[in-house]
Amino acid sequence: MIDALRTNPALLKLDLYCRGAVLDESCYVEQDGGRKILRTRAGLGSGLELILPGGLWTNVPVSEPFARRSPYAIHRQDGRYLLRHGGRDVAPVALSPRPAWYDRATASGKPMTRVGTLQGTYLGVYQAKVCEYWTGPLKENCKFCSVGLNLGVDDADEKSVDEVMEVVRAARRESGITYVDFNTGHYDGDTYLDILEPYIRRIKKELGLLVGVQTPPHRDLKRYDGLREMGVNRVSFCFEIFDPAIFRELCPGKHREYGLDYYLEAVRYCAALGRRGPRHEPWVTNGEIIAGLEPPESSIRAIDWITSVGAIPTVCVFRPLVGTDLEAAEPPNTEQLVPVFRRLYEACMERGLPVGCAPNVHVSLVLLPEECRSLSRRRFPWQTLKLKAMAKALRFGLERRFAAAAGMGSASPSAGSAERS
Ligand code: SF4
Repeated sequence: MIDALRTNPALLKLDLYCRGAVLDESCYVEQDGGRKILRTRAGLGSGLELILPGGLWTNVPVSEPFARRSPYAIHRQDGRYLLRHGGRDVAPVALSPRPAWYDRATASGKPMTRVGTLQGTYLGVYQAKVCEYWTGPLKENCKFCSVGLNLGVDDADEKSVDEVMEVVRAARRESGITYVDFNTGHYDGDTYLDILEPYIRRIKKELGLLVGVQTPPHRDLKRYDGLREMGVNRVSFCFEIFDPAIFRELCPGKHREYGLDYYLEAVRYCAALGRRGPRHEPWVTNGEIIAGLEPPESSIRAIDWITSVGAIPTVCVFRPLVGTDLEAAEPPNTEQLVPVFRRLYEACMERGLPVGCAPNVHVSLVLLPEECRSLSRRRFPWQTLKLKAMAKALRFGLERRFAAAAGMGSASPSAGSAERS
C-alpha cells in the first residue's frame, strides 16, 4: 500500500480526502507561509491546503475527529514538510503558498480573505447572503453542508462589486489567477444570477479572466443563453446525489424547490450551449456530485449520465464536517471510491470532453478527471494529444487577452507568479 501511495498521486490525494491527516506539532503552517485553515469553502472544505507530488493541489482534512485517527501525519523536518503513513515516509509535500494579499484589507476595510480566497490556484467567491435553506422556517439545508455555520466567520455577508474587483485584481497581479468562481446558495425568487451578473461583466470587461458560476438551476433556462453570450466560461449545478431517494433525504431544500430532474434538465440544457458562441470563450457545464453519500455504483451512473449529455462531472469526496447534520457519519472508504474516480477519467476521455485545458487552474477540493489518469490502465493517446493542443490554443488566446487588458491599465501578474507547478 505504501508503495502505491508513493507512486500514484491520485490514489494519495483520494486516500487523504478519505482519511485526513494529523498535523504534527512540529508544523508551523502560517509562519512557514502556508494558508490558514478556514471553515468555509462551499460547505465541504475545512482542511490544510497542500501540494502533493505530481503537482496535485489538495485540501487535507485535519480538523474533523476522523482525521485524528488517521494513519497519516504531516511533519516538519529541517524546514520542509513531509507526509508519513504509520510512521513511514510517503512523500515530501509543500504548503500551498499564502499570498501577501491574504494579510491585507480592501479600501473599505474588509479583510480580503472575507471577500475571496484561493482554492488551489483559482479565486473562489461565495457571493452575497447565506443560502436560504438555512434561514427559512423549514430549515431545509443539505445535511452535509456547513455554509450556514460559516458565513460571518470566514466570509463577509455583503461584498460590493468594487470590493470583489479589488480582490480579483490583487489575486490576478500577485497570484497569477486565470479563473474566478462564484458560488451561491438558494435565494427565493431565483435572484442569484441577477446578483452575480454585475460582478461577471466587470471581470470580463476589465480583466478578461475566465469566470464560472455555481448556483441552483434558474427556472428560466434562457438565462444561461445570456450567460453564454456574456462570456461566462463555466456553469455548475450541484445535485450532489443521483439516487432519487437519497437526494430527497439529504437535500430536502433542493428537492422541494427544484427536484433532481430539474437539476438534470439544467445540466443537459447548458451542455448544449457549448455549440454556440462567442467562439473565443470556452464553455463547460459541470454536474457536481459527492461520492460517499450514495453507493459507488450510483455515483458511477451519475458520471455516465453527466458525460452522456456532454457535461463534465465534478466529484467531491464526502467529508463529515464538524457542526453539520452528518458530523457523526463515517468518511468514505478509499477502496470503494477508486472505481468511481477511475470511471470519471475514462468516461471523460471516451466522450472527448475538454478536461485539463484551462491554464493554471489547480483545484484543491476535488480530484479532477485528468488527475485520475493514474487510477486507470486505459490510455487514450489521440484524445490526450487533442487535449494538449486545445490547452495550448487556450493558453495562447488567454495570454493575448490578458496582455490587452494589462495594456488598458488593468492588473497584470508579476513575473513568476503564474503557473507555480
Ligand atoms: S444549497 Fe445545500 S449545499 Fe448549497 S449552500 Fe444551500 S444548504 Fe448548502
